[in-house]
Amino acid sequence: MAKRDYYEVLGVERGASEEDIKKAYKKLAFQHHPDKNPGDKHAEEKFKELAEAYEVLRDPEKRSRYDQFGHAGARAGGQYADFNFGGFDLSDALRTFMRDFGGLGGFEEIFGEPARGRRRGRAVGERGRDLKVEIQLTLEEIAKGVEKTIKLKRMVPCEVCNGSGAERGSGRITCPQCKGAGEIRQVRQSIFGQMMTVTTCPRCKGEGQIIEKPCSNCGGEGRVRGTSTITVKVPPGVATGNYIPLRGQGDAGVRGGPSGDVYVFIEEEEHPIFKRQGNDVLVQLPISIAQAALGDETEVPTLDGKAMLKIPAGTQSGRTFRMRGRGVPALNGYGRGDELVQVLVWVPTSLSAEEKRLLKQLSEMPGFKPPKDKSFMERLKETLGV
Ligand SMILES: [Zn+2]
Ligand SMILES: [Zn+2]
Repeated sequence: MAKRDYYEVLGVERGASEEDIKKAYKKLAFQHHPDKNPGDKHAEEKFKELAEAYEVLRDPEKRSRYDQFGHAGARAGGQYADFNFGGFDLSDALRTFMRDFGGLGGFEEIFGEPARGRRRGRAVGERGRDLKVEIQLTLEEIAKGVEKTIKLKRMVPCEVCNGSGAERGSGRITCPQCKGAGEIRQVRQSIFGQMMTVTTCPRCKGEGQIIEKPCSNCGGEGRVRGTSTITVKVPPGVATGNYIPLRGQGDAGVRGGPSGDVYVFIEEEEHPIFKRQGNDVLVQLPISIAQAALGDETEVPTLDGKAMLKIPAGTQSGRTFRMRGRGVPALNGYGRGDELVQVLVWVPTSLSAEEKRLLKQLSEMPGFKPPKDKSFMERLKETLGV
């Protein structure tokens, strides 16, 4: 199948701004998201196509290559050298979506009500509910990526009737109320004339068939309460509010209907020493007066263990050093944040008589007097308003 023009896919002009491209992608991706269109292959293809186009057009470098050389240009070179665009699969597409919109609003806001069995008149029950679980991750787990096992309470298919809902030896019969149509049409008189209303059959809930004799284990629902153990692979670089969809692992559907999905929401635990700021991590490091004045090489904690930091002579308290590439990896896999180490000169709090004597002696020497340039005194006066 020939690839469609990426601008056409997103429905934007060739000169569209980054903002317009993002907006167009967001609108269309929400519309074609597989969770809004369960089982709809066409929507899924469209969703993947949108993600592929968006991945190229959102990146100025790839976009300019695409503008010049077309699809071959977007494929060639750079980070995408080994990225097979032909095989932009659903998980890539969902990851693109999650990366840019994962943190948006609430779960319900994105997906609305739990999806119901969509195809009327089919002898299959309602789709199972989507489930939401939260997992807590440490900053170290986030930095490396982690696989977690979760025990989950969910509806599972009934083993007695194999999910059919029918007692052994009995089967399904055509619903007597709707005669198998799954819906009921009624013609009413209104001031506008005749009006037809179509409602889902209350007896078979749209399935068109009913169970002749319900299974005694599940009461005819084809599913029972149970638990499952699921495994989720968390990529490095996630943050609180991101979620990972696990397709078909939610509640089992009614009488063989499709299962819902599980959405694993990430929550980052507070770290005892690191503070996260985007992909950077901040840490405060106490050092002695001597280390600050004379310079030193000292150990600092990082997300991958200890590292050495060089403190130059004459370092003032509060100064921040940047250790490149020691932060959290970017979620899209390109690059990594830094570690920012703020040194704080520690002032001794309980000194012996001998230490006091030495310190006093030192403090009277010229090198120990803080600078008192005029501008500083003037600023001080201004601040105090005298
Ligand atoms: Zn019916
Ligand atoms: Zn059963």
